[in-house]
Amino acid sequence: MRQPWRVAVVGGGIAGLAAAVRLRDSAPAGTEITVYEQSGALGGKLRTGELAGQPVEFGAESFLMRDPAGAESAAVALARRLGLGEKIVHPTVGQAALVIDGGLRPIPGGTLVGVPGDLERVATVARPAADADTDGGRPLVGPDADVSVGALVRSRFGNEVVERLVDPMLGGVYAGRADDLSLVTTMPALARTARVEHTLVGAVRAAQAAAPRAPGAPVFGTLAGGLSTLVEAAVTASGATVRRDAAVRELTATETGWRLTVGPTRDPELVDVDAVVLAVPARPAARLLAGPAPTVAAGVGALDYASVALVTMALPQPRLPELSGFLVPSTEGLLIKAATFFTTKWGHLRRPDGLAVVRASVGRYGEEAHLQRPDADLAATVHRELSAVLGTPLPAPVDGHVQRWGGALPQYTPGHADRLAAARTALRAAHPTLVLAGAGYDGVGIPVCVRSGETAAEEIITALGGSAR
Ligand SMILES: Cc1cc2nc3c(=O)[nH]c(=O)nc-3n(C[C@H](O)[C@H](O)[C@H](O)COP(=O)(O)OP(=O)(O)OC[C@H]3O[C@@H](n4cnc5c(N)ncnc54)[C@H](O)[C@@H]3O)c2cc1C
Repeated sequence: MRQPWRVAVVGGGIAGLAAAVRLRDSAPAGTEITVYEQSGALGGKLRTGELAGQPVEFGAESFLMRDPAGAESAAVALARRLGLGEKIVHPTVGQAALVIDGGLRPIPGGTLVGVPGDLERVATVARPAADADTDGGRPLVGPDADVSVGALVRSRFGNEVVERLVDPMLGGVYAGRADDLSLVTTMPALARTARVEHTLVGAVRAAQAAAPRAPGAPVFGTLAGGLSTLVEAAVTASGATVRRDAAVRELTATETGWRLTVGPTRDPELVDVDAVVLAVPARPAARLLAGPAPTVAAGVGALDYASVALVTMALPQPRLPELSGFLVPSTEGLLIKAATFFTTKWGHLRRPDGLAVVRASVGRYGEEAHLQRPDADLAATVHRELSAVLGTPLPAPVDGHVQRWGGALPQYTPGHADRLAAARTALRAAHPTLVLAGAGYDGVGIPVCVRSGETAAEEIITALGGSAR
């Protein structure tokens, strides 16, 4: 293998950047790393903007502190690696609410993304079906099977638990419906215990016991200064050459590695590298894989995505409840899917002048038509719905922002994990120096994407004949 290695990271989201940092840390010294990002900005779904003179997240807002096994999450480990450990802050107000029959009710604790381990505790928002969760003498889910979260929970706890708890909570992450989403990919800890336990209550409790949380330990964290500081620090630590406004349009296998076609069709640039981390969403990945690995492209490209819009507004001294925000079941008939009271939730964002920053997300899978509405229309509807839910007319905003994220949230249907494993196995066999990373494959969320990028980097190092330092 020629030295130094030349590795291209395609996609400058957090998965690509985590891959670049891991390559810098573990590949031979002198490895040339180049990040190609099609847009003008790095970070992908991580984007810290500004509203009323204050940093505000226009994309992802926070990260899980722990991984499903209970260990420190990869996002926390990356922040520490980048010298940002001291900047991690936690919500001051963690309690959120559900909108039920037009009013707010606290989200009951003790659930796994809304799936209860104690039916009594959720009685304030949903009546579980009586006696459906009986021991049928075998595990809930077969050893290699996958089901939708909605189907499993409906069969055991009835419709109301799905519609009022699980759907809004899973929908808060995926903008999708529990009835469509894979148990194995979206709730891996529950999928593991559901293959052993005979009741859903038993499976939830076993999953919770497998990752015990120290009392009072924070679930979420973010970075004071904004998540874009993670992006900037990763770029610096990786020592990568960064190419913005540089879409990779084609990948061709060469005798020794890969040729990338970069930039506009009229004036393409051809770049030869030894290996590629492909850290772009599934659809652009499928287009790039169509030439060198058509069957892999077909498997990867089957993934569908939901679009969302985030409407953020700065409100002068509104009367807000002491809640981090609320989630809205789709049965409530509102456009808003979820709302976050940023300046209540995060102590570091509170302002002496009482200005409140509120963000609402709009858009559920299959309801993209609503997102065709102009920004001003979306903002006015959100303002009206917020006032109605809070039961008080909110003041007119002094500043606002509408961020649209088209095709942003993967809808992993049952069987996704197996389809992906097959695609990866085929890709590894044919092209070991081309590795997939990011949310299109391993799951949504900053920790998962960081881990996915790091794993991709390690696979590249192995494929190029090195060993992780
Ligand atoms: C609105 C929203 C809110 C979220 N909130 C949270 C949250 O609070 N906490 C959490 O943990 N997760 C959250 N997530 C999920 C999380 O942000 C994502 O799962 C994660 O950031 C995805 O990272 P990624 O690197 O895989 O992909 P992306 O962030 O999508 O990055 C991929 C990059 O590849 C670039 N690209 C695409 N095609 C090409 C090409 N041909 N050539 C070059 N570059 C290309 C894109 O421009 C993009 O920058 C949220 C997601 C969304 C959409």
